[in-house]
Amino acid sequence: MLSVVHHPAYRAEIPEGHRFPMGKYSALARVLLREGIVREGGFIEPDVASFDLVTAAHAPDYVQAVFDANLSREAERRIGLPMTPSVSLRARAATAGTLLAARLALANGIACNTAGGSHHAARDYGAGFCTFNDVAVAAAVLLAEGAVDRILVVDCDVHQGDGTAFIFENDPRVFTFSMHGEKNYPVRRAASDLDIDLPDRMEDEDYLAVLEDTLPGLLSRTRPDLVFYNAGVDPHRDDRLGRLALTDEGLARRDAYVIETCLRQGRPVTGVIGGGYDHDVERLARRHAHLHRAAAAAIRRPGR
Ligand SMILES: [Zn+2]
Repeated sequence: MLSVVHHPAYRAEIPEGHRFPMGKYSALARVLLREGIVREGGFIEPDVASFDLVTAAHAPDYVQAVFDANLSREAERRIGLPMTPSVSLRARAATAGTLLAARLALANGIACNTAGGSHHAARDYGAGFCTFNDVAVAAAVLLAEGAVDRILVVDCDVHQGDGTAFIFENDPRVFTFSMHGEKNYPVRRAASDLDIDLPDRMEDEDYLAVLEDTLPGLLSRTRPDLVFYNAGVDPHRDDRLGRLALTDEGLARRDAYVIETCLRQGRPVTGVIGGGYDHDVERLARRHAHLHRAAAAAIRRPGR
């Protein structure tokens, strides 16, 4: 079975009608159970991240302010979520979840979180619905432990992974790759190790061709001990914030392609869900489940 990390605290309490689709985390867990990707009682639950863990990639003052649910109005506005104890706990749970999924990926070849991919969070601030950069924390912890020497971040969320790029801009051990809508948030970009800007309304075939032209060479060149794959579903044509025009089939093919290509080269993969914005939370959860379906199919393949 695929290892899937989930924590009930991923779904924080925020005001009814808030534009962030918080319900998608619990809805995704239900989809995975319904489809038999995870057995009843089969989710792996992390302990929420400690202060020391989160400071592997974030400034202590910022981490403390989030832990205390005591951010300035301006810092809160930049994140776009009210920094309550529930939202603070969610950030700690998701961060621990991605680290746990990464450890499971190192052991089993692949593992997924049902949250994560908070790629706009930088060292001393959060932004764009991202409080702690879970992938950056997990990468920094595993590097510090000596569990891995080289990491590749493959960020296919439709927005640039600016926070991750900022955090690792001077760290040659982490290669950051982001492919995203050229006209999308954030306006002020960081420099990833590789950025690919995609034009508005790009469709499946063109999108997949870019990925197929890029990923195999990138894996051979960087030879990562671990890949973090941000499978944001906001490139979907119906996404409220996306600007691209992928179909569900296109997203499913993308996820299968990334996972298979990494595994074929012997590179373990940690899947995180990234962004996705749809008023219909159930439909959105089914869309995020493409990642877990692809990962479950990969693990069932003979020889693994
Ligand atoms: Zn996004």
